[in-house]
Amino acid sequence: MICLTGDVHHDSLKINEQLFVKNRNLSEVKISVDYARLCERYKIKSTLYVTGATLAEQWEEFKPIAGAALVEIGGHTYAGLPRSLASKIWAAVSGNISISHSQSHGSYASQRRDVDKMLAIAEKRLGRNLVSWRSHGLVHDQHTYRILAEAGIKYISDDLSWHKPFPELLPEGLISHPMNIIMDHDHIYHAHRTPEYVARQKRNWTFHDDPTKESYSIEEWGEIVTKQVVAIEQKGGLATVLMHPLCMYVADEFKTMEKLLKLFSQYKTIWACETGALVAKRKEANNE
Ligand SMILES: [Zn+2]
Ligand SMILES: [Zn+2]
Repeated sequence: MICLTGDVHHDSLKINEQLFVKNRNLSEVKISVDYARLCERYKIKSTLYVTGATLAEQWEEFKPIAGAALVEIGGHTYAGLPRSLASKIWAAVSGNISISHSQSHGSYASQRRDVDKMLAIAEKRLGRNLVSWRSHGLVHDQHTYRILAEAGIKYISDDLSWHKPFPELLPEGLISHPMNIIMDHDHIYHAHRTPEYVARQKRNWTFHDDPTKESYSIEEWGEIVTKQVVAIEQKGGLATVLMHPLCMYVADEFKTMEKLLKLFSQYKTIWACETGALVAKRKEANNE
């Protein structure tokens, strides 16, 4: 079983990678619309985690995704942890890695406000409450899951672990389905991720739970994904794959993605909001 996921960000966040889209008529949201259509062509369900500001600022562009029958929409913070001007200047002056988001949510109150704002705009635009979430940049702290659970979120996918083939129940009551397949952005040479950038990033690696710091060409990455997905299918587990629309487009204009979709179409695909059934089923099986 496969849970295909992607994250979508607003243009005004100005993440590094958006600058690598040569066709200026394309935005990350428009690329995501094409991504959703491609998934639907292969009859594959996907969960797209979107920032609230995308729904607020680019709703007309986003509408086709909201109306797509095979797409579940999840939350990805409202604002996308924008960095302060001071930290951008510091990165430029110090030669540090210029990551595109802040490494902290700030205070409990500010994080809570951001979550509430995300859920409010989703309800206004989509007419329903979100139940699935991924933290932008996977940045979460000791408050995040409690805040999310209290706000009605039930499913989270922040964990990076290749040794967890099944979703699990967290102490806060959320169901976590770990990304157990090599994630895309931080393991593919593309956009600003040149060999020099990657060498520097390896020294300052922020994803402490990530099983690898290595990067690959998009084609090699696709081969690793294939092997890992097949191995999880053989165990009867759930493969949670992260393929960002923007990365898939910038790296090779969806070529590798389409190969992977052909593979995924041989298996059952589910949304993040369906992962709870797997936890219940395993609990039942273990009690027997
Ligand atoms: Zn993100
Ligand atoms: Zn990327």
